[in-house]
Amino acid sequence: MGLLVQKFGGTSVADADRMRAVADHIARTRRQGSDVVVVVSAMGKTTDELIRLASDVSRSQPGRELDMLLSAGERVSMALLCMALSDLGIPAASFTGSQAGILTDAVHTKAKIVEIRPVRIKDAVASGKVAVVAGFQGMSTEREVTTLGRGGSDTTAVALAAALGADACEIYTDVSGVFSADPRIVPDARRISRISFEEMLEIAATGGRVLALRSVEFARRHNVPLHVRSSFTWERGTWIVEEEPGMEQAMVTAITHDTSEAKITVAGVPDQPGIAARLFRALADHAINVDMIVQNTSSNGMTDISFTVPKDDLETSLTISSSLAPEIGAREVSADEGIGRISLIGAGMKTSPGVTAAMFEVLSKESINIEMISTSPIRISCVVRDEAVERSVQILHEAFELS
Ligand code: ADP
Ligand code: ASP
Ligand code: MG
Repeated sequence: MGLLVQKFGGTSVADADRMRAVADHIARTRRQGSDVVVVVSAMGKTTDELIRLASDVSRSQPGRELDMLLSAGERVSMALLCMALSDLGIPAASFTGSQAGILTDAVHTKAKIVEIRPVRIKDAVASGKVAVVAGFQGMSTEREVTTLGRGGSDTTAVALAAALGADACEIYTDVSGVFSADPRIVPDARRISRISFEEMLEIAATGGRVLALRSVEFARRHNVPLHVRSSFTWERGTWIVEEEPGMEQAMVTAITHDTSEAKITVAGVPDQPGIAARLFRALADHAINVDMIVQNTSSNGMTDISFTVPKDDLETSLTISSSLAPEIGAREVSADEGIGRISLIGAGMKTSPGVTAAMFEVLSKESINIEMISTSPIRISCVVRDEAVERSVQILHEAFELS
């Protein structure tokens, strides 16, 4: 008899019928002989609605209160799911992140898990109960309620699976696995049956939101077998596994897109040592995740630095960059929200040259202009206008024959 952690995303528990369907599945899993710890997200679009409500009410939105508000969404789900389980005769108990022993740092709205002490979860399981844990939340070292950033329930699930030594962590969602592109944009995208952590990390980092990036990092570090699958069809989905010798290494495995970032350009800065360090240190000190960075070649000793940040952090990033401008001698700071990023990911790229050229040719044939480029050994990313993003994904998916 093993232990499974099963995580259900927002669409999987969106209404009463879905809640009961999920309870049925948990009951089925128990009948097959496994202990189950469940992690739930907020119902449907609850988190988006709470965020909207906060901005309708307040301009300042103190982080502590925002976390108090957002963590409520997952609480609703966990209690309702336990009620549905009770109707099926399955003993169950719900736990907030704090009760589940999820300890985080004190960075509100994007806290990181620092330790897990799942004493009450272990007790609940030992006494024959299904433990249902509210995802996306924890308690900080300062005893405040925190949330883990959007998509954070995935991280809760993987972290609990690691701490409990679960046999697998199953991520149930509204698609039947990880696909060669977002099935909403490329309807004939292919489901991948097994994918390496290495490739999955790149997919998650570049907009393939089916798994939150930190959950994949966690799973890799603690070797948690991850299975992404559908809560609508319940069929076998995608396993994320350690790369195996002889595992097929496709040149291109998946194409991702991301329109959640904006570009900031700090123009006319002196091309001297220390300037970039000061700028990016200031941003890092505010927990802003800078992604792509491009610095122009200098002319007359002056240069431009462009970088991308999450749109959610744009205002703060602009304030920081602008206030630093006089100090670092920058002429101008500007922002561009009309960008999107497309990325090709494939472990086989390491050994096959020419993928970059092929990608550029496909885009140029459609007169799509590339504004920024960045690469890793198994990824190529291009920033293009946001209105060209969907088309770019579709033509690249076709050109690289991923269907
Ligand atoms: P949940 O609420 O279950 O956490 P998410 O909306 O966070 O679900 O993630 C699932 C969504 O991820 C899918 O509906 C799909 O549109 C999107 N997605 C983006 N890229 C991919 C991909 N490569 N494979 C599968 N799904 C993807
Ligand atoms: N409810 C949170 C969100 O919408 C966390 C999650 O679903 O993973 O981002
Ligand atoms: Mg998600």
